[in-house]
Amino acid sequence: MASLAGLRFDPSGKLSLFLPVIALAIIARLTGWRLTVVCVGLLWAGLAVLGLTGHITFADASITGFVAALIALLAGRSNRPLLGIYGLHQPTENEVLRALLAATPVVLLDQQGRIKRASPASLDIFRLAEEQLLGLPFSELVPGFDHRLHASVDAGTDLIKPAGNNWLAMRPDLSHIPVELWLDHTPDGPLIRLVDLTPRQTADEQARELHSQLNKVWRLNSLGEMAATLAHELNQPLGAAAAYLHAAQEDMKTAGPLGESALRTTELAKAQMLRGGQIIRRMRELLTMEMRTLSKEQLSVVVDDVLPILTLTGQDRNIRIETDISMPDLVRMDSIQIQQALVNLVRNAVEASPNGSRVLVTGHAVSDHTFEVAVEDSGIGIPSDQIDRVFQPMMSTKSGGMGLGLSVTRTIVESHGGNLRVGASRWGGARFSFTLAIANQDEQE
Ligand code: ADP
Repeated sequence: MASLAGLRFDPSGKLSLFLPVIALAIIARLTGWRLTVVCVGLLWAGLAVLGLTGHITFADASITGFVAALIALLAGRSNRPLLGIYGLHQPTENEVLRALLAATPVVLLDQQGRIKRASPASLDIFRLAEEQLLGLPFSELVPGFDHRLHASVDAGTDLIKPAGNNWLAMRPDLSHIPVELWLDHTPDGPLIRLVDLTPRQTADEQARELHSQLNKVWRLNSLGEMAATLAHELNQPLGAAAAYLHAAQEDMKTAGPLGESALRTTELAKAQMLRGGQIIRRMRELLTMEMRTLSKEQLSVVVDDVLPILTLTGQDRNIRIETDISMPDLVRMDSIQIQQALVNLVRNAVEASPNGSRVLVTGHAVSDHTFEVAVEDSGIGIPSDQIDRVFQPMMSTKSGGMGLGLSVTRTIVESHGGNLRVGASRWGGARFSFTLAIANQDEQE
């Protein structure tokens, strides 16, 4: 009888020799084959030492070693390692590669340009089963593709340029999707990777649509602002001219018959002047900002939608547009008008900022009912004595500037019941901010 590491070995009973065998089976079941092989090796070494030192017979050592290896093999093979199932198993490089290839649409062609292997993701692109796809000439699925021309160049991974705008992948129902084709030469033949361009095209279309909507809103808003300014500016001189004519008419009345004709003429002039005032007022009413009802919107979603357009404004001068919007961000707004306000503020911020800097759009609740949106830059800022001036319509310090951006933005913000404010940003530039009303989750639209 011998004792090792707390275990009792009884060569006559041999029962205790099965303890390490059971432990090995558990290890094999729980972990991958690598650890199991190491443990079998250790067990064999231990058994050899016990055999050599005479603690157990060589026959017992050999039988135990053989049984342990057999049980470990069976336990390890029976299923996936349990630790792997619970996410504790590290996948091997090959497993990762296989998973990646399965998720990537790739096809392997033979020398005749026929498909000899296809990944599961490529079946989704063509909407065909594997047995339908294998053996088909790739040019049948992507018209215009010529394997002699496009897959014979001895190069690394490369984009294969189509003759027209895009390659089109044909489907059995005769529909097609735009794809990009990338070529890689492997020892087994040309490997073509397909990239489905539909999501990119949809995003581009949405950005174009939003851009044209914003342009329309901008034209109407700026016209409305100009009409309001004109009406405001012309109202005073028109009123003064009408008052002078009225005074002149009083004098003419005292001039007797001689003044009667002049009185009639000035009356006509007065009527035209009043008409001019009415025309301007009507124009202003017609061009008053078209506001839809304010609906419940998530600010982060509205900002994300307009982000491609905001990003474009800074692209030429390498100015990044960053966003930081705290949740919850459910607010009441007319989204297209608020997007217009953000485009105006971000464009101004970009124009005032140095190359390579950043503009930050933030949003956070400032009370239970109010959410503040701000645009901050690291530009020249606005001197305190200029703060009132910058909001005046048609005031601009830029050559070619219309001076309408801030006044249109202020009208948009005020029509939402908020105020447009300006101050200094954390980087010493300008910080324009406005508030929106927070919407309740269960509130009606
Ligand atoms: P415009 O951009 O056509 O000049 P705006 O009404 O948008 O018209 O802006 C009026 C003026 O306010 C600008 O010309 C500029 O002088 C000033 N301004 C606006 N935004 C900023 C800013 N972020 N930093 C510094 N100055 C600004």
